[in-house]
Amino acid sequence: MAKKKIDVTGKRFGRLRVIKEVEPKGYKRRYLCKCDCGNEKVVYLNNLTRGMTTSCGCFQKEKARESSLVDLTGKRFGFLTVINQASSKNNRTYWRCECNCGKSIVVEASRLLNGKTKSCGCFRKEEGFKRKNEQEEKYRKDGVMVTSLKRKINKNNSTGVKGVSLFKTKKSIKYRAQIGIKNTIIDLGVFDTIEEATLARKQAEEKYHKSYLED
Ligand SMILES: [Zn+2]
Ligand SMILES: [Zn+2]
Repeated sequence: MAKKKIDVTGKRFGRLRVIKEVEPKGYKRRYLCKCDCGNEKVVYLNNLTRGMTTSCGCFQKEKARESSLVDLTGKRFGFLTVINQASSKNNRTYWRCECNCGKSIVVEASRLLNGKTKSCGCFRKEEGFKRKNEQEEKYRKDGVMVTSLKRKINKNNSTGVKGVSLFKTKKSIKYRAQIGIKNTIIDLGVFDTIEEATLARKQAEEKYHKSYLED
């Protein structure tokens, strides 16, 4: 069964109007077309019927030019304000921007439009710096939890004196003094009287905590 030979002469495909069939390239049939823009172009029949080719190429060029020529002057992207167009090549447009920090940089249009570039780089640096400062503030006291040093005496404290607890033996009741420093409990000893234990604790406070509590 012979394949019916189609003829698209005189038909329109997008911006192209088919003028006449020309020499095929191998087995591929080709047509000479005239574009609305005035250019003539030889197009494969397949590309015409599949809608692959709808202009001499002027349509694609226009689209590319459109997107690269969106005027970004005066627009703001994060920290950046677009000052003017810096350059343009291969359908990519580069814009000169001024950052909030005063620095000026050149950024490609699409990086601004898709939000990839929001500052000269100072924003990221600042973020990192802020985080580092917070961390430092947290650990500034060398791992000593200052809030816990200033905390009121625990209600469950058996003696009413911070850092002094009852130390019961079979024979008697003694007093154990302790101090917490850098997440470690330091044993200051067991004393016969609460006064001695309190004194030991006070001396230890002077020794270990004072430098941390005085700002
Ligand atoms: Zn054209
Ligand atoms: Zn900046």
